[in-house]
Amino acid sequence: MKHLTTIALDAALAAGASYADARVVRSRRQDIVVRNNRVGELEEIEDLGIGVRVIAGGAFGFAATGDLGAEAVKKTAARAVQLGRAAASVGGEPVRLATAGVYDDRWVSTFVEHPFTVPLDEKLDLLRRCATAMRKVEAVRVAEGYLSFLAERQWFASSEGSRIDQEIIRSGGGISATAVGAGEMQVRSYPASFHGQHLQMGYEAVRGMHLVENAERVAREAAQLLTAEPCPRGRRDVILMGDQLGLQIHESVGHATELDRVLGMEANFAGTSFVSLDKKNRFVYGSPIVNLIADATAPGGLATLAYDDDGVRGRRFHVVKNGLFTNYHTNRALAHVAGDDRSLGCNRAEGWSHVPIIRISNLSLAPGDWELDDLIRDTEGGILMETNKSWSIDQQRLNFQFGCEMGWEIRGGRKARLLKNPSYQSMTPVFWGSCDAICNNKHWALWGVTNCGKGEPMQTAEMSHGAAPARFRNVEVGIA
Ligand SMILES: [Zn+2]
Repeated sequence: MKHLTTIALDAALAAGASYADARVVRSRRQDIVVRNNRVGELEEIEDLGIGVRVIAGGAFGFAATGDLGAEAVKKTAARAVQLGRAAASVGGEPVRLATAGVYDDRWVSTFVEHPFTVPLDEKLDLLRRCATAMRKVEAVRVAEGYLSFLAERQWFASSEGSRIDQEIIRSGGGISATAVGAGEMQVRSYPASFHGQHLQMGYEAVRGMHLVENAERVAREAAQLLTAEPCPRGRRDVILMGDQLGLQIHESVGHATELDRVLGMEANFAGTSFVSLDKKNRFVYGSPIVNLIADATAPGGLATLAYDDDGVRGRRFHVVKNGLFTNYHTNRALAHVAGDDRSLGCNRAEGWSHVPIIRISNLSLAPGDWELDDLIRDTEGGILMETNKSWSIDQQRLNFQFGCEMGWEIRGGRKARLLKNPSYQSMTPVFWGSCDAICNNKHWALWGVTNCGKGEPMQTAEMSHGAAPARFRNVEVGIA
């Protein structure tokens, strides 16, 4: 595959490109859904192709093909140059790529058991046993289980001399029970909603979830929610569990700090951002205990990589440090806009057929030092919320509302009663500013997002968000 990138680079330079990179990407993906003991979905997709990105006449051009014959690759490279020239003719400032290192490297993500060596029958059997256990609870009408696996290898080469071969393995899944009764419908999921939890690991990630062992509990919780009291309205202290906090980080910090959104270059999917350029190193994003760290080296993270699709080494950096906003997610083309001479390594594309764009890294809230039990004991009147059910956030990433699957009223330092349909709403800096306690490492976990949509044409990216339960004071709560 490496020779194809060389053919592409030679052709692009011969056609007049001042810079070129090529990525051959080969992927295999398996998705399985079992619904009420029946296979609801079973999909296996293999994909292979090359994408060529160039700078020609000062502008980017990109073309891709699934035909890996030498002639097709050469033609694709020439087309990328044509498109670059066409883009340059429209005018605008020439692309300025920040300096990057030159690497010749191979990197494979950490895994123990390759998910594609586990027989399909074993996977289906696991999900069927989950469904059977959930359906023991009478009110459960829909019992679902999911598994998803990805193996992707990428050969990257640039005209600056980098040759990078990377391979990632990702595994995950989850279960959910839908209970119906008392004029209500309630869903409980485990380990996370919307098709579960995913990690950059092998099949050991799935084994470690103990899905069957948790199935009956999840089903019982769904049934209990049918007759639970609705969440009260008003202002309360809120404790968010890590799975919900992960999505909170994604929507209100991750997207808000993508530099292309900040510049108005990416305005789809509730794009743009309130974090304007003057805010770097000045704006108070949260309370002094809030540290939000982007880390492309985090073990198990879905955005973990050795190099991004600019060929820049993956790294760890603070987006928010002791409450202060310090860094955007950047790439080589835009680093200078943020006043940086190097990219922070956040340029990523979906597969071979898309151009890389700025993407959220593994962005996590650093753990604090609280035990969860102590945090609950320390809360006089509050609501604990768990597992995301719904979200909405405005274009600027400022005002938001999140609904959760399950809530607990906390009264006098104890979990008093189960609550259904809890939600909370706030404004990004006010909310993060109200954070006064974060649980410790023992409660911290990475939560994977596999469906982050961005760009036009739309592309999907994956990343993880680490969080431990945390408390936010005086937040508006209500019914989702
Ligand atoms: Zn997203």
